[in-house]
Amino acid sequence: MTEPKQQTTTLIVNDITLLNPIAVAKIVTPQSEAELVQQLVTSSGAVSVGGGRYSQGGQVALPDSLHIDMRSYNNIVSFEPDKKQITVQAGITWRDIQTYIDAYELSVKIMQSYADFTVGGSLSVNAHGRYIGEGPLINSVLAIRLLLADGSVITATPDTNRELFYAAIGGYGAMGIILEASLQLTDNCRVQRQVASMATQHYREFFQTQIRDNSAIVFHNAVLYPPQYNQIAAVSWLTTDNPVTVDRRLLSPDTRYWWQPALTDFVADYDFAKRLRQHWLDPLLYRQPAVHWRNYEASYDVRELEPADRTKQTFGLREYFVPVDKFDAFVKQLAAVLQQNHVNVLNVSVRHALPDKGSVLAWASQEIFAFVVYYRQGTDEQARQHTELWSQQLIEAVLAHGGTYYLPYQPSATPEQFQLAYPRAAEFFQLKQQYDPQNRFNSQFWSKYLAPFAAGI
Ligand SMILES: Cc1cc2nc3c(=O)[nH]c(=O)nc-3n(C[C@H](O)[C@H](O)[C@H](O)COP(=O)(O)OP(=O)(O)OC[C@H]3O[C@@H](n4cnc5c(N)ncnc54)[C@H](O)[C@@H]3O)c2cc1C
Repeated sequence: MTEPKQQTTTLIVNDITLLNPIAVAKIVTPQSEAELVQQLVTSSGAVSVGGGRYSQGGQVALPDSLHIDMRSYNNIVSFEPDKKQITVQAGITWRDIQTYIDAYELSVKIMQSYADFTVGGSLSVNAHGRYIGEGPLINSVLAIRLLLADGSVITATPDTNRELFYAAIGGYGAMGIILEASLQLTDNCRVQRQVASMATQHYREFFQTQIRDNSAIVFHNAVLYPPQYNQIAAVSWLTTDNPVTVDRRLLSPDTRYWWQPALTDFVADYDFAKRLRQHWLDPLLYRQPAVHWRNYEASYDVRELEPADRTKQTFGLREYFVPVDKFDAFVKQLAAVLQQNHVNVLNVSVRHALPDKGSVLAWASQEIFAFVVYYRQGTDEQARQHTELWSQQLIEAVLAHGGTYYLPYQPSATPEQFQLAYPRAAEFFQLKQQYDPQNRFNSQFWSKYLAPFAAGI
C-alpha cells in the first residue's frame, strides 16, 4: 500500500509592499475575547499579531509563529454620543467607526490620512494624521484593554496600569494584544480647502504665523515637490458654514480608482511628469473650490494608491521627525540625500504634531515636523540594498538634528540607530522582560531590535 502524500501548505503573512513574505505556523482569526485568551494560553512559542498589514517591515509576523489576525474581532463595544466616546474591539477599521458615528455628527479625533487601518494596528504604531493642534493618536485614547502573555486581561489608562498604557501604545504588539480601545471623538463639521504655494524656505514662518495657532484649521499638510524640493503647496482645511461641494458624507467604499494608480505610475516613471503635476495638475486641482465633511476628508481609501502590479517595483513609505526649529536645516539634507541617491520620490508630505503625552517609544517627545516620503523601489536584492543605504543616511541626518524616524516601515535602521532614535528603548525592553519574560509576543521586526538587549549588548 502506498503512503498517502503528506499535504503541506505554506501559510504566508505579507504586507502591502509584498517585500516581506513570512511563513507562519498557523493563522487564526478569533472573534471573541475568550477565543483570543484561549489561543494564547493553549499554545506555546511565539505569537505574532496583525491588523490591516499596512506596516511594511516584518512588524506583523515571525517565521513559524502562531499568527493572530485581528480583523474579525471588530465590533463596537459601547458608544456614548453625549460624551463623544466610543469603545471598540481592536480589529475594527477607522472606516467602520466612521460609518457608525457619522449619523451622530461625530468624527474620529486623531487618525491617519487613510481609513483602512485597524484601531489595534494604529494604536500599536501610535499613528498620526494631518490634524492641527493634535499630536500622536495616544493623545485621544482614554483606555485600552490588554491581553498579557500570562493570559490575564487588564485595563490600562493614563492613571491605571499606566506603564503598560504608555508601553503598549506605540509598542508594536510587544507588550500584549490590545483587545479594546476607548477613544475620545469630536464633532463632525464642514471644512473648506485653502492652498498657499511658496518657496520651501518660507514655509516654517508661514506655518508659525498662519497655521499653528489657527483654531479654525482642522487638517493641514504641505506637499514638498520632488525632484527639486524647493517649492511647497500648503494645504489647509478650515471649518466653514459654506455648503459642501461634495454631497457624500463619507467616500463610498465602492469607489473605483481607475485613474489615480495610473497617474501615480506616470509620476513615478518620468521626472517631467513630476514637474507636470507640480506646475499644472496640482494648481488646477487646488483652484477648484472644495468644501467637504470632515468625515469625508478622513475616509480616504488606500486603494487609490494601489498599483496594478507590485512584482518588480513596489511603493513604500518612510517618515522622519525633526524638532520644529530644525525644519530648514533638515529639508536641505533630505533633498541632498534623496537627490544624490536618485531616489524615485513621488511625494513628501510635511505634517506637524504636538508632543506625545508619554509613550515609551514616542516619536514626538517634543513638538515636531514630520516628513512622510512616498517612493518607488525595485524588489530585487540590489534595489533593496540601495533603499537600505539611503534610508540609513536619512536616519543619520535626522539623528544629527535631534529627531527620529518612524518605525512602521522597512527596518533599515541598524540596532544602534534604533537605540539612538528611541532613547527609552532599554526601559521598553525591561518592561518586555517583566510582562513577557518568555518573549511570546514577537515579530521579525522585534527580533531585530530587541535581540541586542536580550544578548546584553
Ligand atoms: C498608504 C499608507 C498610508 C499611511 N499613512 C499613515 C499616516 O497618515 N499616519 C501614520 O501614522 N501612519 C500611516 N501609515 C502607516 C500605518 O499607520 C501603520 O502601518 C498602521 O500600523 C497600519 O495599521 P494596520 O491595521 O495595518 O496595522 P498592522 O500593520 O497590521 O500592524 C502594525 C503593528 O501593530 C501590531 N498590532 C496590530 N494589531 C494589534 C493588536 N490588536 N494588539 C497589539 N498589537 C497589534 C502588529 O503586530 C504590528 O506590530 C500609512 C501606511 C500606508 C501603507
